[in-house]
Amino acid sequence: MNYHQYYQTDVINGPGTRATLFVSGCEHQCRGCYNQSTWNPCSGHEFDEQMQQRIIDDLNDNRIKRRGLSLSGGDPLFPANLDAILALVKRVNEECPGKDIWLWTGYTLDSLTAAQQQVVDRVNVVVDGKFEQALADPSLVFKGSSNQQIHYLR
Ligand code: SF4
Repeated sequence: MNYHQYYQTDVINGPGTRATLFVSGCEHQCRGCYNQSTWNPCSGHEFDEQMQQRIIDDLNDNRIKRRGLSLSGGDPLFPANLDAILALVKRVNEECPGKDIWLWTGYTLDSLTAAQQQVVDRVNVVVDGKFEQALADPSLVFKGSSNQQIHYLR
């Protein structure tokens, strides 16, 4: 998996102060996508062991109290991303007690493969659905268009 951006401290993408990872790779091709440069899974930088460790360390760093991790993109549930994302969410669940995980995806929860579901089973909140330009509304919180849904799972 590759990633485009990592924000060590972020107050925009999800509730509270968070760490946020924007991964590469997306097949949805939503019209009006704000992040087209992430579509190519080979774009960005390699998400290696060191990067994974950095996120764990940031979440456990008590000097800045982060509420959790946000995963966006691109699409964290893009098939080629699933192994790396599953490994990351497992580590956050096991090594970062009390930290929540929010995940944004263009897939809808009722259309997930078994491998995608394995990731979602370890995530607290999923914002799902493609970005629909005709339903775009800048007043929405944590989503871009009104068809998207925020699912509080655990
Ligand atoms: S799911 Fe997100 S990143 Fe992918 S095309 Fe749609 S808006 Fe862009």
